[in-house]
Amino acid sequence: MRVILAQPRGFCAGVVRAIEIVERSLEKFGAPVYVRHEIVHNRHVVETLERKGAIFVDELHEIPDGAVTIFSAHGVAQTVIDEAKSRGLPVLDATCPLVTKVHLQGKRYVARGRALILIGHEGHPEVEGTIGQVGGPVHLVSSTQDVDRLDLPADAPIAYVTQTTLSVDDTREIIAALQRRFPNIEGPDVADICYATQHRQSAVRDLCRVVDLLLVVGSRNSSNSNRLREIGIEQGLPSHLIADGSELDPAWLAGVGTVGLTAGASAPEELVLDVIEALRHHGALEVEPMDGVREDVEFRLPAELRERTKEPVR
Ligand code: SF4
Repeated sequence: MRVILAQPRGFCAGVVRAIEIVERSLEKFGAPVYVRHEIVHNRHVVETLERKGAIFVDELHEIPDGAVTIFSAHGVAQTVIDEAKSRGLPVLDATCPLVTKVHLQGKRYVARGRALILIGHEGHPEVEGTIGQVGGPVHLVSSTQDVDRLDLPADAPIAYVTQTTLSVDDTREIIAALQRRFPNIEGPDVADICYATQHRQSAVRDLCRVVDLLLVVGSRNSSNSNRLREIGIEQGLPSHLIADGSELDPAWLAGVGTVGLTAGASAPEELVLDVIEALRHHGALEVEPMDGVREDVEFRLPAELRERTKEPVR
């Protein structure tokens, strides 16, 4: 059995930055630091940071007065920022700059008097953050059927933005449906789907052409990992999302000559290595990477964390 690794896979620049913000905050201010929501959607990452002294909470009221507070990579609503300010919490914002870009685009459209449509998945924290940042009514659509159901006149001034981790193909269809219904609609092609999502999805599409089985390393609540598995299914391959090597079911490998392996943007490479180890245990002899895009995107840390000096707890 051979294993082919998708290129690129795993951590994106937004995830690297978010994790580094938590780690450097722990170094600089000491434990504990409080993180609102999972910093990125990966259990292993969260548990590793918990062991170092991060405490993850769902809402700000769970954070004691004066404690270092970090917002997750998915972004937060303006009300959350306002609440943190009114309590005087020292905040470090790990919102991915590409998510912030969507917030700013949405605000600009609303300021120009356009009704805003957000293409995204209901309940996802990024979607809640974007809706809560825009400061006007937002119509959420996640399918072409949702577009048909929109109660807006065809000539209304309308614009759209998208969640950053959607399926590129589905989003293209939804945008086409929006453009058919609202000929004057404004919006950014599929460009709001971030570079990392686009690269990982197109790498998986290439991978699916040469493998018999697709394994995606990632957490169940990771949007971009789920999209990678769906691409495998669309291509007619048995495809499974697994957290690590312990979730590999040997029954999946029966009759399989080549396994394709990738990882969502929030899944660390050590979990990919763990799956490779499990595959070796079940007879994988060769492991080779596919050719693919080499990413060199880096996002700057917040100014207060760029220098690695130890500071007393406030
Ligand atoms: Fe940022 Fe894209 Fe990574 Fe999300 S997947 S954190 S938008 S770089």
